[in-house]
Amino acid sequence: MDTQQRDSLRELFLGTAAFYERFGYVPQLGDSVTNFREETRELIEAAEDGDDVRHIAEEAADVFVTAMGVCMARGVDVDLLIEQVYAVIHKNDAKTHETHIYTEGKIRRRSSLKRSDDGAEP
Ligand SMILES: [Mg+2]
Repeated sequence: MDTQQRDSLRELFLGTAAFYERFGYVPQLGDSVTNFREETRELIEAAEDGDDVRHIAEEAADVFVTAMGVCMARGVDVDLLIEQVYAVIHKNDAKTHETHIYTEGKIRRRSSLKRSDDGAEP
């Protein structure tokens, strides 16, 4: 399977929607959030348990699916999701060492650190 040339995000979203529809499941926010939290916990456990990368990737894919369920419950469609994914990619690409710094386990905006240093809210 040539995974490099496929639109995996769109396929996953549409495949998940078809899967839900096949079972007559219309995503509701409460159930979707519960499922998302469960899958997030499983991903964290898989990562903390060791180095079984296939298992970690499997759990990460479950997180993606359940995140999409949360989106579906609130009417986010696949095109809006993809638009926002590219927005994040472009935002991250624009971040430089001039604008951001890695500190305390996170890449942060330098300006937010200055505000924090001044005692203001970031
Ligand atoms: Mg799972």
